[in-house]
Amino acid sequence: MVRNLVINMVNIKCSRCGKERESLHEIKCKKCGGVFEVEIDFEFRKENLKDNFPYIREWVTLGEGNTPLIRRGKVWFKLDFLNPTGSYKDRGSVTLISYLASNGIKDIAEDSSGNAGASIAAYGKAAGMNVTIFVPETARGNKVKQIEAYGAKLMKVSGTRDDVTKAAEKSGYYYASHVFQPHFRDGIRSLAYEIVRDLNWKIPEKVFIPVSAGTLLMGVYSGFKHLMESGVIEKIPTIVAVQTKQVMPVCAKLNNLSYAPPAKVTSIADALVSTNPALLQEMTDVLQNYGECRVVDDNQITEAWKELTKIGLLVEYSSATVYASLRKDDENSVLVLTGNGLKVL
Ligand SMILES: [Zn+2]
Repeated sequence: MVRNLVINMVNIKCSRCGKERESLHEIKCKKCGGVFEVEIDFEFRKENLKDNFPYIREWVTLGEGNTPLIRRGKVWFKLDFLNPTGSYKDRGSVTLISYLASNGIKDIAEDSSGNAGASIAAYGKAAGMNVTIFVPETARGNKVKQIEAYGAKLMKVSGTRDDVTKAAEKSGYYYASHVFQPHFRDGIRSLAYEIVRDLNWKIPEKVFIPVSAGTLLMGVYSGFKHLMESGVIEKIPTIVAVQTKQVMPVCAKLNNLSYAPPAKVTSIADALVSTNPALLQEMTDVLQNYGECRVVDDNQITEAWKELTKIGLLVEYSSATVYASLRKDDENSVLVLTGNGLKVL
């Protein structure tokens, strides 16, 4: 059902039990522990894509989105690594931070030593917030430096990755999680809109994305679903989720493969680390109906990364996974290149 109204309010509902979110401070559903999602019950607005995010009154923009879609050989590359902080995550940060800012939130916490941490740091600071990013004690490298460069406070936490999450949750600051906050995931819809718009309102055969925590997959799916329900496209393109041999819980669940996560993830694809993602069920449900899951190993990733650099595309190893998974018969597909290679040099 779609409503053709100009609205400023949208409902936020639990993706599992349907309960409405009671306040901004309910991070997970109190009733069932599920994650919340933004309910899209209005017709797609073609003229200005930003109008499809009616809950935002004032955009805290850094010029994100509208990244190039270029054709090379039989496929297109969506250059989302050209976003302001060097990753697609800016699509989610702009909607989440804009929404939080307009609701008077001033102090935020996030747990990520990677692209999400850097992106939340940049947008949070741009909105005039105090930003604290919780990272594992062992986190280092350019992404951590990037987080600090934006002026966010870095808090190193010992223990497991779950301990880092708990520290952020219990910090006393507003928990601006890129995984749980519905307004973050929702921002990723813009990626699906742009792909279809730039193909003259047609869908590609397949859309290739790397998959870890699930924000990209769930966000892109939501965008295509909205376009279909609004009659802009006839069907959702096949979504090809790509995971690494070390971190493949989604592929394992979808294809009934046995999978035991390693004690420590050492894959060169260092942005793909969610061995037990909170959105696992949601992701497999989507792929069951609209996609497939492919697994690549470090050798294939390195090889694909090298091939991409030779055509002028410097991306993260985690982003090269999509190219590594490409098969000879994959034509007229879009490969989303998610993260900037300068971060991992
Ligand atoms: Zn629920």
